[in-house]
Amino acid sequence: MITRIVNAEEGLDEAVSLIKSGELVVFPTETVYGLGANAYDAAAVKKIFEAKGRPQDNPLIVHISRVEEVRDIARDIPDVFFTLAAHFMPGALTVVLPRSERIPDIVTAGGDTVAVRMPKSPVARELIARSFPLAAPSANRSKHVSPTSARHVFDDLDGRVPLILDGGECEVGIESTVLDLTSGEPVILRPGAVTAQMLAPFLGVAPGSGKVIGTAKSPGMKYEHYAPTADAYAASSPAVAALFYDKCVKEGRRPVLLFGEGKAAELGDRERISLGESVDDFMHSVYSALRTAEKEHDVIIVEMLEGEGRAASVMNRVMKAVGGKVL
Ligand code: AMP
Ligand code: MG
Repeated sequence: MITRIVNAEEGLDEAVSLIKSGELVVFPTETVYGLGANAYDAAAVKKIFEAKGRPQDNPLIVHISRVEEVRDIARDIPDVFFTLAAHFMPGALTVVLPRSERIPDIVTAGGDTVAVRMPKSPVARELIARSFPLAAPSANRSKHVSPTSARHVFDDLDGRVPLILDGGECEVGIESTVLDLTSGEPVILRPGAVTAQMLAPFLGVAPGSGKVIGTAKSPGMKYEHYAPTADAYAASSPAVAALFYDKCVKEGRRPVLLFGEGKAAELGDRERISLGESVDDFMHSVYSALRTAEKEHDVIIVEMLEGEGRAASVMNRVMKAVGGKVL
């Protein structure tokens, strides 16, 4: 199969036809690129698992273009869903709800719940509005780092998908927050750019009350996701990063540091890929930096951020990428 990268607006008509004929399309979103198929068509959705090499017990997110479409995807939808939708949709929030009968087993990995999100990208929403809700995971080969550009997708899925809609770099840069509304009290299954602190006021949790929204493991989180092909570590300080870097050089290895500008001065002239100035810059660029780094280096040393909220969300992904290895 020939894989083409086409400007998102220009490729939209073709993408609509492909989805309607049961094929896959890669589409841009603000979080990471998605690999989509008609969510109502089990045979089409099966192709996603084949293209990615994804285990079938890892469920997909159903992407919608209007809040009201949720009624086709889910049932017994609590009022709080619509409150959250008013504030965070479109956006980087995925909500888990009881599943409607229209959604085939393969989308939910056979479970009774379904994950729903409305992406910010107008092209993604137009594609959905003109075809079907799209079941989609991230558009990477299973277990690799999620893609934040069309080029990243091509590197992983060349020959496995017909069309990649190129919408430029993803603004957010890590996967959506997954919030489960099906298990009594709201639970964050996967942290992301929409944080517990941002959600709390809409979930009846008083700010500063000390009460936190629960966290638990999302089905997909048990896999060693997001890993680069090079040996990767998280560094608890610039000093330990520099020491380890120098040791690697002595051993004839080719290390690189992934650090923000704030700590850059402490790293001297060691080779570094910048993760920008702010936590949001770090979030935006960390996957791209991991993909760049693995091409030319065999050791990747990533800065550890302290703090809650988005910093903790990015660190959740960094810890996955380094397989829990901390210097
Ligand atoms: P990806 O966007 O590639 O990370 O894949 C979608 C992820 O969404 C899965 O790995 C799960 O973490 C999450 N997800 C999808 N459906 C459900 C569900 N029904 N319940 C809980 N989490 C889900
Ligand atoms: Mg993924």
